[in-house]
Amino acid sequence: MADKPVLFKITNLKQHFPLKKKGLYVKANDGINLDIYDGEVLGLVGESGCGKSTLGRTLLRLYDPTDGKIMYYGRLLTDFAPNYMEDTVKRLPHYKERMLAANKALDQKQAEVDKLTTEEQYKHAEELTELKRKAHSATLDIANIIGGLASLKDLEPVSRVYEKLYQASKLKRSLVLEQRDERVALNDSRYQLENENKDTPAVREQIRTRETALKDLETKIASADSGISAVQQEIEQLRAPHLEDEAFKALDAHWDTGVDLSRLTYDEMRTLRVDMQLIFQDPYSSLNPRMTVGQIISEGMKAHKLFKRQDDQVKESVLKVMDNCGLAPYFLHRYPHQFSGGQRQRIGIARALALHPKFVVCDEAVSALDVSIQSQIINLLQDLKEQENLTYLFITHDLAVVKYISDRIAVMYLGVIVELANTQEIFSCPMHPYTEALLSAIPTADENVKRELVVLEGDIPSPVNSPKGCKFHTRCKYATEICTMVEPEFIEVTPNHFVACHHRLGSVCETEFVASQQGADTAS
Ligand code: SF4
Repeated sequence: MADKPVLFKITNLKQHFPLKKKGLYVKANDGINLDIYDGEVLGLVGESGCGKSTLGRTLLRLYDPTDGKIMYYGRLLTDFAPNYMEDTVKRLPHYKERMLAANKALDQKQAEVDKLTTEEQYKHAEELTELKRKAHSATLDIANIIGGLASLKDLEPVSRVYEKLYQASKLKRSLVLEQRDERVALNDSRYQLENENKDTPAVREQIRTRETALKDLETKIASADSGISAVQQEIEQLRAPHLEDEAFKALDAHWDTGVDLSRLTYDEMRTLRVDMQLIFQDPYSSLNPRMTVGQIISEGMKAHKLFKRQDDQVKESVLKVMDNCGLAPYFLHRYPHQFSGGQRQRIGIARALALHPKFVVCDEAVSALDVSIQSQIINLLQDLKEQENLTYLFITHDLAVVKYISDRIAVMYLGVIVELANTQEIFSCPMHPYTEALLSAIPTADENVKRELVVLEGDIPSPVNSPKGCKFHTRCKYATEICTMVEPEFIEVTPNHFVACHHRLGSVCETEFVASQQGADTAS
């Protein structure tokens, strides 16, 4: 996967829902770090209530995240010019102060803890982890936008040049939106001319005016692009003299041209929603019973102004997406109650794909279907992924289902990801005790596959009062004292295999990897 570009970079994402009783929160997502690559299928697995669906919905900003970052690389910061870009640049000194204060607090605590015995250090582990998270997040806020330039004493020239970049980017964004509206209006006029017998001088004149306006807009967009490039060159000139500086390099590593979804306004997010869609679990309740299939599928196209009205172009697009999803054209005017579960799910998929998104969250998309229909829908999703170059987050509680569609699998427990690796490796070399237990519960008819059943004792603990240290320690047969006090770090054990466990399972893959590294060292 590492050869593919990253589409989402999620850092310390938290989603805490407040309860009526003051000060209590349901910690549905509690510090998630995850990269999703362009064009991959990432399976997200865990028991009910572990926070999988919340993560999918928070990524789409259907919920506002409590904390953390969701960087999206489907659009660039300079194409999108969100308001937070201007806000950060205007408040640079404030952001810098916050970054310095957070890092100072961390350094002081670390120095205190270093003097203690190992036993005593355990007691401060939680506080230290929180300070590390705060310092990291404060650093990201400023360094994402201006990178190493945040280390300079005089931020005034930086602020000035980034203000120019924001203005040029904002202008480009408004021109692109104007261009979209003008295109829709031009298509509408052409439709009137060709199909509504409105071949009048007024309509012809309207078409000519719109064509000229579109050409003007193209020229203006090209000029905004060169404006952006010129400012970027100015930024490079500011950057160049400091490239050897260590502090500069450390901050520059966080410089990022992606868009932080967690900081977008409602309207900004609405514009981006075209890129990101959701397929729901329940094909019965997710379709409006008063709307026909055609209306359901075309609703998003009209809401996002891809077409001006209900005309042949809309119908053509709807029929095309229906065909891609295996729905016959004569279903167009039928209502959801006239279909089976599998067909309804195809309608839900067609609705999600009508806007040609880049990223789709499939939230238990096959769990409510019969097993025979599940494989049809999984095959359909796989075909559509190839055709449309989609990226899926495939959420399910069933490892057997996710095995057939996912490139990588992330295992989630009580709001955190405990293991992440490619699919084949999760099945052959699980390193987290929870993954081991989930795998052992998959029924198999293959006599050659012999797995000892690992029974998980007790229920999943409450996300309101989750256990200290490793959240899994109350149910883990390998737990020791350190597990009850220190939260394990999520680390890369072998290339692209991440796990959060103090006593990860001795796996063949890890041993083989270490041996191969030693062999390579000896050879060199
Ligand atoms: S850290 Fe400890 S409790 Fe948690 S999974 Fe690993 S062994 Fe079990």
